[in-house]
Amino acid sequence: MCECYSTGISKNKFTFTQIIILHVELSLQSIQENAGTKQQENDRFVQHLKQLNEEELDTEVQRLDALITPQISCTDCGNCCKGLMVNITAAEADKAAAGLHMSREAFDEKYVEKGSHELMIINSIPCHFLSDNKCTIYEYRFAGCKEFPALHLPQFNQRLFTVMMHYDRCPIIYNVMEELKNTTHFEIEKG
Ligand code: SF4
Ligand code: SF4
Repeated sequence: MCECYSTGISKNKFTFTQIIILHVELSLQSIQENAGTKQQENDRFVQHLKQLNEEELDTEVQRLDALITPQISCTDCGNCCKGLMVNITAAEADKAAAGLHMSREAFDEKYVEKGSHELMIINSIPCHFLSDNKCTIYEYRFAGCKEFPALHLPQFNQRLFTVMMHYDRCPIIYNVMEELKNTTHFEIEKG
């Protein structure tokens, strides 16, 4: 249960509630179990978010992301590296190959799947480079890895489908979305 201090602030079209978060859910098991019970609620929540002003919502998501992310240890989780399809560019492959002291050809053969339009993805899920929940090529990791879960980026509303795909396994996304329910005054139906 969250212990919060809250104050209402008015914005142009919507009123968000600023909350100082004292507790976030860290248990991956609880997150997964809770997510299983919230499917209908989250479908309604997505519809609720789509009605909000995009820029104001971006600001609020970025505020919550900045509060919550420092409280979560990615090395205790590693779920994105276990479940993401990682797109890479030729320049990133060059850099990673050099870092691993491999030729680019050998790197591609071992780690890369190529598609049409120069699409390149890492050819295994979980990612080859994950070991003990740590990235073994951290210095050379790819833009998609650095960006995830991308809550700091604008146009959050356009990415709701992807965000919710990871709600049950990314504690950052889970906690931001749960707090967003409070701060955007989403009505949770009591069972
Ligand atoms: S390259 Fe590193 S950060 Fe990216 S998915 Fe693989 S293990 Fe994770
Ligand atoms: S799934 Fe989320 S919390 Fe887990 S390692 Fe990735 S970004 Fe960090």
